Amino acid sequence: MCQRLLYLGILLAAAGAVSAQEQQDFSKVEIKTTQLAPGVYLLQGAGGNITAAVGSDGALLVDDSFAPLADKIRAAVKSVAAGDKAVRYIINTHYHYDHTLGNLPFIQGGAVVIAQDNIRSRLASGGTAGNGGTITREIKPVEPEALPQVTFTNEVTVHLDGEEAHAVHYASAHTDGDAIVFFPKANVVAMGDIFVRYGFPFIDINAGGSVQGMIAACEDVLRKVPADAKIVPGHGELAGITDLRTYTQMLKDTTAAVSSALHANKTLAQMKQEHILAAWSEHYSPPKAFVDTDAFIETLYNSLNKRTARHGPVPR
Ligand SMILES: [Zn+2]
Repeated sequence: MCQRLLYLGILLAAAGAVSAQEQQDFSKVEIKTTQLAPGVYLLQGAGGNITAAVGSDGALLVDDSFAPLADKIRAAVKSVAAGDKAVRYIINTHYHYDHTLGNLPFIQGGAVVIAQDNIRSRLASGGTAGNGGTITREIKPVEPEALPQVTFTNEVTVHLDGEEAHAVHYASAHTDGDAIVFFPKANVVAMGDIFVRYGFPFIDINAGGSVQGMIAACEDVLRKVPADAKIVPGHGELAGITDLRTYTQMLKDTTAAVSSALHANKTLAQMKQEHILAAWSEHYSPPKAFVDTDAFIETLYNSLNKRTARHGPVPR
């Protein structure tokens, strides 16, 4: 069920924020709760994964999925702890709506949303997300009341009942505003969409993302966390260091393949015709993939060519 809904979520996410909310029947969505460590949980329903740290004085969420799921997310938090554990803090990993549309109901419920500066700017302006090629999605601005109340530039730590949630900004990765959230005591890392498990990753080149930044962020996490760390991807099932290492190597190897084709003066069309990423397609480009092999070639080509510089950033 969960896998199918997650996949549906990705497909719907591809259809646009408004239509995603209109089309998906959120009444059927169930929140699956998995304990990662004492007081730390993975919540999975629709949209991006949520990591919840629940202490005696309330809960912190990393990402908050879609607005219609807020009550189910609250119920999931209450189900894992005695008493009425209100959601007090939310950290957004990036601006995409399948991770942030819950901001409004949680703010209305008294939560403080914390996000990197660029997330707030992009939520306020909306824009056109995309890989600089065939993937483009219009993103509408959110209501002013749904904007993060606290922003940070490089890093911030929230102290909650003995646990720390340490959010670190990684520049130019999945977007220009990504944060990875480390829970050092629980040995858990929430990576947002810098690490996904649905296939080749979507990189929002239009919003300042790049494969080079994705690789740098993944390598930094691999350097920082212990070998038995639990790694929460933006989409898909819970992972470990080995999974993240394999994914990072794929990013590096596919980038090297496109880079050498560029150095051989191949055009983007030639790279697609020659199926230069064929060796990775079977594993990373399942049928009806959100990012199929050709779209990932575009993504890497545009990252390496820095096409965003020529096309200009998303209007703010
Ligand atoms: Zn995303």
